[in-house]
Amino acid sequence: MPDTLVPSVTDVVDLTRALVRCESVTPREAGALQLPEQVLGAQACRCERMDFTQAGTDDVANLYARIGDGGKHFCFAGHSDVVPAGDLSSWTIGPFSAELSAGYLFGRGAADMKGAIAAFTDAAARFIARRGRDFGGSISLLITGDEEGPAVNGTVKMLQRLAERGEKIDACIVGEPTSSKRFGDMMKIGRRGSMTVDMVVRGIQGHVAYPERLDNAIHRLSALIEALVREPIDQGSTHFQPTSLQFTTVDVGNPATNIAPGVAKARFNTRFNDLWTSETLFAHLKERLDKANAQLGGNGTIEYKVSVSGESFYTPPGPLSELVAGAVRDVAGIECELSTTGGTSDARFIRSHCPVLEFGLVGESMHKVDEKSAVADLKMLTRVYETMLDRYFAV
Ligand SMILES: [Zn+2]
Repeated sequence: MPDTLVPSVTDVVDLTRALVRCESVTPREAGALQLPEQVLGAQACRCERMDFTQAGTDDVANLYARIGDGGKHFCFAGHSDVVPAGDLSSWTIGPFSAELSAGYLFGRGAADMKGAIAAFTDAAARFIARRGRDFGGSISLLITGDEEGPAVNGTVKMLQRLAERGEKIDACIVGEPTSSKRFGDMMKIGRRGSMTVDMVVRGIQGHVAYPERLDNAIHRLSALIEALVREPIDQGSTHFQPTSLQFTTVDVGNPATNIAPGVAKARFNTRFNDLWTSETLFAHLKERLDKANAQLGGNGTIEYKVSVSGESFYTPPGPLSELVAGAVRDVAGIECELSTTGGTSDARFIRSHCPVLEFGLVGESMHKVDEKSAVADLKMLTRVYETMLDRYFAV
């Protein structure tokens, strides 16, 4: 990392630009942990690299920085890795050049989520500079380089290491870009679960001219798909949308015009709410499928392979959501909606350790070309995080 990129402690925009210039596409660190380490180290934070390796996965660098030994422990969590830039020719501005234009900072990670890393690094540094090291509590930053990838050598293992040595976190904010249309309009209090099911449906292959001698696996599969999608799975719950089920592929691979296939494969993904666990939901779906399969007659069978990337969870509205909403109201003058929409995040690992919420920038451009964040939003986010620290550690 060139020296010229070292930002000033007090400028979130400089720090975000410096972070965007680090090409930290998962699993590369590329200097993206070195920068917060430097800023926080200057405030006498204890910075610790927690780098993990595991056979069959990429080596990943992670940063844990903490100030304070006792009292209440507030943690900011996030990821320094970014998704690839994709087709470079479709970007208006270089994805890693971090240019400012028309009030926006452009670049991969500007929204998801280097802007938030810069904001909470800056907020923590400012708080410590003002209040001193003995403010009666602990602040930590838990930054992983493995969120956009397999998420194996990151947050999970960092939390495990903290638990092993008896470090307990009392509250955590993940800086994912949760704002929807306007800065501050949404926080995430939980996330839906995600389960993918691969199905192999077997009938009897045969000559299309002799239907009485075959059991067409495509016909069987289409009836099974119908059984899953015809009726809604549920109507949603207090904090969640209805569970959604989407087929993502159907594969037969039959080049012949005169053969009815005996095997058909399909895959679907569900995003499920807190009315289910992956286990109860799968049991429910299997019951629907078994019933439909039996109604078709014959000896057709279904095999399943289930992969779960996270259970649904939420932190009930309470002191932590009020802390976020209050800070947002005072800084941005907007009411922050409590939501559980969207994909999964590392909050799914943190929730078994402490209450966790997610709040950050506007996520509209995340993972897209010309990803961007408004400069004004970066400044507001820093103030929101700093206000939260002030109130959490109010004397
Ligand atoms: Zn993210």
